[in-house]
Amino acid sequence: MKRYDCIIAGAGASGMVAGITAARRGLNVCLLEHKNEVGKKILNTGNGKCNLTHVGVCPKDYPDEYGEITAKVFEQFGYEKTLDFFKSIGIFTTERNGYVYPMSGTALSVRNALSDELKRLNADVFTGADVKGITPGFCVDAVIEGKKVCFEGEKVILAAGSCASPVTGSDGSGYSLVEKLGVKIRKPLPALVKLISGERSCKRASGVRADCSIKLYVNGELKAGDKGELQFTDDGISGIPVFQISRYAALALDEGKEAEAVIDTAPGMTLEELEEYFFYGRKKSEDRSLKNFLGGIMHSKLVTAVADKASVSSDKKISDINDEKVREIIHTIKEYRLKIIKTNGFDGAQVCMGGVDLSEIDFDTMEHKRIKGLFFSGEIIDVDGPCGGYNLQWAWSSGAVAGMNV
Ligand SMILES: Cc1cc2nc3c(=O)[nH]c(=O)nc-3n(C[C@H](O)[C@H](O)[C@H](O)COP(=O)(O)OP(=O)(O)OC[C@H]3O[C@@H](n4cnc5c(N)ncnc54)[C@H](O)[C@@H]3O)c2cc1C
Repeated sequence: MKRYDCIIAGAGASGMVAGITAARRGLNVCLLEHKNEVGKKILNTGNGKCNLTHVGVCPKDYPDEYGEITAKVFEQFGYEKTLDFFKSIGIFTTERNGYVYPMSGTALSVRNALSDELKRLNADVFTGADVKGITPGFCVDAVIEGKKVCFEGEKVILAAGSCASPVTGSDGSGYSLVEKLGVKIRKPLPALVKLISGERSCKRASGVRADCSIKLYVNGELKAGDKGELQFTDDGISGIPVFQISRYAALALDEGKEAEAVIDTAPGMTLEELEEYFFYGRKKSEDRSLKNFLGGIMHSKLVTAVADKASVSSDKKISDINDEKVREIIHTIKEYRLKIIKTNGFDGAQVCMGGVDLSEIDFDTMEHKRIKGLFFSGEIIDVDGPCGGYNLQWAWSSGAVAGMNV
């Protein structure tokens, strides 16, 4: 069998960019992908529209612990180079509130452009090729149609993703490959994921989408916060602001700590304005039910959830609610507290925090510090970013840097 300059395990976002970058340097490249098509996860990104980066993305957009690493990688292949790269494969972009999408509005166009460029460069792409082991030297063992095949190469890039959204192929098998090589892994945890509370009041607001601000407290200490459209579900909360705080909740729960979400369900009004609204309104129209009265400023199902928390019926006449209870309701509107008991798990997560330990990799090249010739790219590494194009940016950048140095 042909010996390759570079074998890439995993043909997702980072693996394909690594392959293109290496092949453009004249290397003889092979990609092994266990799904029946390449870049399956890309197709699901940005609700099928692929939010491929964020305007002016820079290291400070990522959690502090990744600042130094992303700085090294983006220095070699950052935002501008990413846009140039996409232009070079025929993908022009457009931007909405900082979120960058392909002009076509489809993730399929991005996946297809990457795949076509690999073809143009004569890279060998094997789908249905499940990588089972990597022997330094390098022999990459894969199973294709039930048969074991050994691919030989000078260098290997491990780009097998995480265990977030395993239906897309990113099923955590990359971690086992890494562990077999004695490489340290930081425990993967779901991130950019819905949070489960299971509280009864939550169910009352199920289906509501409302502009809110949210803060996450871990053992009573403020850890993270965001604002935007929150989605209330039967058993918890979802939406971009929830995704943004979810990694901190996942970590806290894994460490056995208490995680509590505190939601301002009426961020457009201060506590004082709400009090004025309530007491003035109560004088004017005392026969109105709490639900209908507060329905003027928030979704009626959300009023029911708040009322439930404040132990009052939302059908109660506002004139029958005493001042103390009014203040409790208003307080609950501004600080609707939900104990978080778990996340929606890897199946529902967009990314993972955790992965190949940062101490293992030389981020000038993406090569393993000890096992020469072994490179990493993408989400298999312990780097995760917020929602908004930052995770694909990491995949493109780390893939390109691996491809440049392999
Ligand atoms: C629903 C959803 C929406 C998202 N939306 C966005 C968004 O809009 N913007 C954004 O920035 N990020 C988004 N993300 C995150 C983004 O998709 C990932 O961060 C990115 O795809 C990671 O790239 P990767 O190449 O590291 O991994 P992947 O894209 O997961 O690629 C890894 C590849 O390796 C293959 N593989 C795994 N194990 C093996 C093996 N043993 N043998 C052979 N092949 C193997 C997998 O099948 C897969 O194709 C989203 C994620 C999800 C799930």
